[in-house]
Amino acid sequence: MGKVLIIGAGGVGTVVAHKVAQNPDVFTDIMIASRTQSKCDAIVNAIGNPNIKTAQVDADSVDELVKLFESFKPEIVINVALPYQDLTIMEACLKTGVNYLDTANYEPKDVAHFEYSWQWAYKKRFEEAGLTAILGCGFDPGVSGIYTAYAAKHHFDEIEYLDIVDCNAGNHHKAFATNFNPEINIREITQNGRYYENGNWVTTRPLEIHKDLTYPNIGPRDSYLLYHEELESLVKNFPTIKRARFWMTFGQEYLTHLRVIQNIGMARIDEVDYNGTKIIPLQFLKAVLPNPQDLGENYEGETSIGCRISGSKDGKQRTYYVYNNCSHQEAYKETGMQGVSYTTGVPAMIGAMMFMKGLWKKAGVWNVEEFDPDPFMEQLNKQGLPWHEVFDGNLEL
Ligand code: NDP
Repeated sequence: MGKVLIIGAGGVGTVVAHKVAQNPDVFTDIMIASRTQSKCDAIVNAIGNPNIKTAQVDADSVDELVKLFESFKPEIVINVALPYQDLTIMEACLKTGVNYLDTANYEPKDVAHFEYSWQWAYKKRFEEAGLTAILGCGFDPGVSGIYTAYAAKHHFDEIEYLDIVDCNAGNHHKAFATNFNPEINIREITQNGRYYENGNWVTTRPLEIHKDLTYPNIGPRDSYLLYHEELESLVKNFPTIKRARFWMTFGQEYLTHLRVIQNIGMARIDEVDYNGTKIIPLQFLKAVLPNPQDLGENYEGETSIGCRISGSKDGKQRTYYVYNNCSHQEAYKETGMQGVSYTTGVPAMIGAMMFMKGLWKKAGVWNVEEFDPDPFMEQLNKQGLPWHEVFDGNLEL
């Protein structure tokens, strides 16, 4: 059906490339481009399909992107580089008439701050150009929004309470490692927490609120309230929501390391002078931590991510829990990557597939919950992330 360009050759990019290559009826031509071309070549070797093209690109440069898009002429770009590159890639898409999809909202490098305003500001320009931009199409954000849209479409007249619950019960046998880009991950977790209640945003200290939640096939795990970017679009797109929160599990060992990292200044994102060279401590830390892409081989256990929702249907109160459990080992066997990269990369591919099939094609800039969830939910079951539902159970929240 069309040509796809994947930008970024990290853990998520590797999974996207594998899944795109598994669907040749939809993706007829594939290119992987990233800052380091050898990483793209290694992915192509691992997939074993010499028809996949690779290229070097600095995605901070609109000019370089424009040149690449003009030579390859993709229908859609799947941006799985870092959130810092979202706006340059969107600019290049507008200049060359290419559609856009990403998995994380734009963040400026010098402030750890997540909000959609920067990308939503492109809505009119994408509309006028007749191009589609699909924002936040990983698992969370991504499937979390699609689950919510599916619940709203089929199971509720009004959603009132939404809790997104994200558990990683895996063990990678390292003292400390992050499951995706350490810089992005640590910036996210060390921020203040925030949730939405009765029309207001309530701020908490980082990791201040936590409670035990029970995850299917895993059991109880201490879960911490974080701010997560999809809350912003979900409360806007489902205005009946009275409260929306996001929870993520962390082990004590992880939190102890994180506290030390912060206390000794290694989570700083401002420049410091080291022997006459300017370095950013968090970027230096990334260079010495285990590479998330190398965790897969010895990773055991599962992730479990879902939405716990309550509200009304036909005048009655009801609860609904929809979730996926993903085995790190199964993900590794299929793609060479662990479950966190897998649960992000598979939905990114499906989003691009929805676009290619004309099911999610509308000019403008959209969050995933603004599209029809049904064909996407169907593909989740086919592409490796099957989902399960529990009706009227105890949500613990
Ligand atoms: P990695 O750090 O493993 O990979 C990022 C890739 O982007 C690397 O190949 C890197 O190149 C490349 N890159 C970075 N800067 C540039 C640039 N200026 N130009 C070209 N390429 C560049 O990250 P992950 O794969 O773990 O994560 C990818 C994205 O997925 C992130 O945006 C992350 O926030 C998002 N994510 C979303 C989730 C969700 O559920 N929605 C969950 C997890 C991640 P190089 O190798 O040379 O450094």
